[in-house]
Amino acid sequence: MEMMRRACPCAVCCGEPDVMGRGDAPARSYKPGSFELKSYEFIGGYGLKLSWADGHATGIYSYTLLRRL
Ligand SMILES: [Zn+2]
Repeated sequence: MEMMRRACPCAVCCGEPDVMGRGDAPARSYKPGSFELKSYEFIGGYGLKLSWADGHATGIYSYTLLRRL
């Protein structure tokens, strides 16, 4: 599961690119529970929304991404 969490595609984990298109990846902080999957939700036809035990639940994993993992 750790690999899945580290690949979280949400803006919090990936950082939003600035107007110049550069995006510095923010320092990601992980807590106990960060790599523990609590639940998931199907996002119609697109992918899965994963909720982690540390409360992080903003990452929507597309099927394309899931297949790559
Ligand atoms: Zn995330």
